[in-house]
Amino acid sequence: GGFQSMGLSYPVYKGVMKKGYKVPTPIQRKTIPVILDGKDVVAMARTGSGKTAAFLVPMFERLKAPQAQTGARALILTPTRELALQTMKFTKELGKFTGLKTALILGGDRYSVYIIGTPGRLMHVVMEMNLKMQNVEYVVFDEADRLFEMGFAEQLQEIIRRLPEARQTLLFSATLPKLLVEFARAGLADPVLVRL
Ligand code: AMP
Repeated sequence: GGFQSMGLSYPVYKGVMKKGYKVPTPIQRKTIPVILDGKDVVAMARTGSGKTAAFLVPMFERLKAPQAQTGARALILTPTRELALQTMKFTKELGKFTGLKTALILGGDRYSVYIIGTPGRLMHVVMEMNLKMQNVEYVVFDEADRLFEMGFAEQLQEIIRRLPEARQTLLFSATLPKLLVEFARAGLADPVLVRL
């Protein structure tokens, strides 16, 4: 089960090769096919496991078909601005050949295909700059346990309320405290649980 057996399109596969990845990590092997299948996923994975590529690679595939509507098509929520910046850089490298664009919560940009940022900042942009959320198809809660530890629960609920029902939602977290299980139950649709 290498990357070449996952049925990735050439631009996505090329990005993976350019990063020098020879084989998928265990979390990638378990999550990528399920995400490509369109399912919601709760994945227990910590930093260093290759979790970021585990949600980025299938994201590129899911967003491949061009969309006429404007506004962000994916949201990646991270607990810190530092992680948001790091993830954006990674998205640009890995997605280099996909033609998709990334914006770091700069709001209102009609060309932005996906947006990466912290919940507090995102809610600010949504309110102040009237960021459209109705075309979001793909949502990632990255390091979800830390998102909650940092007190973003209210903003996360508010963001979820503004998202369309028809979307794919993924939650990546090192730990799964009760609060997070409840959040996943409410915000994800029949999620597949992936653990190592
Ligand atoms: P992460 O857990 O997402 O923070 O990734 C940790 C590190 O593993 C990053 O430097 C990635 O570039 C790297 N990485 C991710 N997937 C692979 C892979 N399949 N093979 C080798 N390195 C990888």
